[in-house]
Amino acid sequence: MSNTGYKTNKGLLVVVSGFSGAGKGTLIKKLMSRYDNYSLSVSATTRSPRPGETDGKDYFFVERQRFLDMIVNDELLEYAQYVDNFYGTPRSFVNGERERGKDCLLEIELQGAMKIKARCPGAVLIFVTPPSVEELERRLRGRGTESDEVVRKRLARAGEEAEALESYDYLLINDDLDEAAERLHRLIQDQHFKMSEQTEAVRSIRNGLRAYYTEFNS
Ligand code: 5GP
Repeated sequence: MSNTGYKTNKGLLVVVSGFSGAGKGTLIKKLMSRYDNYSLSVSATTRSPRPGETDGKDYFFVERQRFLDMIVNDELLEYAQYVDNFYGTPRSFVNGERERGKDCLLEIELQGAMKIKARCPGAVLIFVTPPSVEELERRLRGRGTESDEVVRKRLARAGEEAEALESYDYLLINDDLDEAAERLHRLIQDQHFKMSEQTEAVRSIRNGLRAYYTEFNS
């Protein structure tokens, strides 16, 4: 985000988690169609593609051995096991996008979010939830892409995730999609104004004033 006259810090690292079926994917698509200052990290996973999913766009669909190699080669910023599969964030894309000034969105689950929180100071952690538990179940079943057993596993996992909600910085209730996208955008952009995100501007202000200060005190 530009801050007239001052050089800006690099882009933010933004974790967006949410119960499976919370609509976070749709929310992120909406956000990215409206604003061009975001990049979405594409994760690697050992899960099989769902109908309509494309390799390299939705995920990098990889064999288990390739995933294990990525871990060993330190190619992943974080990774986690979710239900029966591995998921992980390729490190180089995220670093590159942030260097270009893009706010980089990671749509990841709880364990990964906690690793980011521990390893990346300044990351913003947002949890997206539907307006009620009934709505959550309805959305999950309505998707129609998972068996009853998988839906139940995902609901059980949601119960576990609910225990850790306070570890996130913000809770975003996804009721109306347009409103939620707008709130998400404002919330992220406001982070840029935190003093800790303004180190370049602070340095520039200090340098600009140093001469006056030195003169007055000499
Ligand atoms: P799905 O199978 O529904 O696409 O994803 C299952 C869960 O894995 C979702 O909560 C999703 O946000 C999460 N996930 C996707 N990519 C990653 C990743 O790179 N790391 C972690 N930790 N979780 C991920």
